[in-house]
Amino acid sequence: MIDPSRTVALVGRPNVGKSRLFNRLCGKRMSIVHDMPGVTRDLISTEVRDDYVLLDTGGIGMEIEMTSKKISVAAEEQVEFAIQAASVILFVVDVREGITTLDEIVAQKLRRYGKHVLLVTNKVDLEENEEAADEFISLGLGEPLRVSAEHGRGIAELETAIDEKLGPKPEGSEADQSQRIRISLLGRPNVGKSSIGNRLLNSTRLIVSDVPGTTRDSVELDLDYKHKDGELLKFRLADTAGLRMKRKVDSPVEYFSSVRTQAAMERSDVVFLVIDAVDGVTKQDQALAGEILDAGRALIIVVNKWDLIIDRWTHDPIEGFKNLKHFLKSYEESLRKEMFFLPNPPVLFVSARTGFEIESMLNVAAAMQATLDMKLPTGKLNNVIQNLFEARAPKIIGTKRFKVFYAVQTGSRPLRIRFFCNRIERLDPGYRRYLEKAIIHEFRLNGCPVRFDLVGKE
Ligand code: GDP
Ligand code: GDP
Repeated sequence: MIDPSRTVALVGRPNVGKSRLFNRLCGKRMSIVHDMPGVTRDLISTEVRDDYVLLDTGGIGMEIEMTSKKISVAAEEQVEFAIQAASVILFVVDVREGITTLDEIVAQKLRRYGKHVLLVTNKVDLEENEEAADEFISLGLGEPLRVSAEHGRGIAELETAIDEKLGPKPEGSEADQSQRIRISLLGRPNVGKSSIGNRLLNSTRLIVSDVPGTTRDSVELDLDYKHKDGELLKFRLADTAGLRMKRKVDSPVEYFSSVRTQAAMERSDVVFLVIDAVDGVTKQDQALAGEILDAGRALIIVVNKWDLIIDRWTHDPIEGFKNLKHFLKSYEESLRKEMFFLPNPPVLFVSARTGFEIESMLNVAAAMQATLDMKLPTGKLNNVIQNLFEARAPKIIGTKRFKVFYAVQTGSRPLRIRFFCNRIERLDPGYRRYLEKAIIHEFRLNGCPVRFDLVGKE
């Protein structure tokens, strides 16, 4: 995953040599536009030495017919974008042209901005051109770096300067794949949470151990589950005290707002939302599902007491259904409709009474672990988003449409995607939901919420 604090952007007016420099820095001779397209062709990005993201903003705002006025508007847009997206900005100028008005406009914007700017005078092809670069000191952005993108002069020095500005790469914040999957059982009173908990704990495939240091009020248990294929799956079940104590709480409102539910949710990677098969989805189930989603937790819906449905079916098959499987399918469909706001979570039909499908819960949670730590490759993510925009264009708001220049995953659990866009308010809620759903579908993130973080003009 790319650390967004390690982003370097190239800005400067057309023809100063930004794309040449881009290719020089990423060590590729040819233009790599097609290897890693941005959301629009406006922005070109690549990862350099597995260390930082390099952006060429040169295409932003550019049209086929460019007047000088349009060029200066585009240049300003590019600089604004770079200021938002990048931690280091390479401001490229052409030593042979000298300082132009547009350079001055750009320099003025950059001076006002506190981040790191490197002034790069390009096309210093020969030693005798070096002195000509002195003129650029008057832009007020420090000593110019003298380079020739074409011939490779001064590139090593430029790379060192970039490294200095970026600082050392932070040490592995990567999630530990072997860590325990933290799970909890949440649901209205009497849906069968304790019964499921006890069933799980009594499974012969489980080795259960107390987690040292947990208090009587918030007991956690480590569960080592031997999967049929020999793999050992490791879980940590939160709030078993709550399950055991079985305090009666009369009002459901009281239950939901309970500190206990919140705490269990906070300590979970995956929440099993238990509902009662006979009651179906109630308002309270929906409210709780909403809270789990807001907390950014992955969730699995567990429809418990399925034995009662099987019993009923055996005595009195429900009319209009061919068989129980057919009924289950339709049950699941209507459940999904009532939980439409969720990120298409897995749905399991279980019975704590008979033990039916109880262990599947652990298998499905384990499968989710990989999803939780998924890294969306930046190139693919941008392709997917580009396709989504082509399949359905956002509405025009004001005079223009919402547009994403570039997207990058910036976090996990919950998965976060940062969008560098034109104007934040142009993303309407309907289009946001469309993007969320489609990204969940495309990357098979079922049950895992996705958060968007928009960077652009307010
Ligand atoms: P951009 O519009 O800023 O991306 O500029 P380009 O990278 O497309 O370069 C514009 C023109 O300048 C091209 O014809 C390049 O070959 C040329 N150019 C780029 N860098 C240098 C350089 O260091 N020296 C010389 N002489 N020409 C260069
Ligand atoms: P909790 O309040 O969510 O922890 O629910 P409990 O585990 O205490 O269960 C509430 C009631 O539902 C008890 O009477 C259980 O025996 C019953 N129950 C739980 N699971 C099942 C099940 O799978 N099938 C049936 N028929 N009853 C169940």
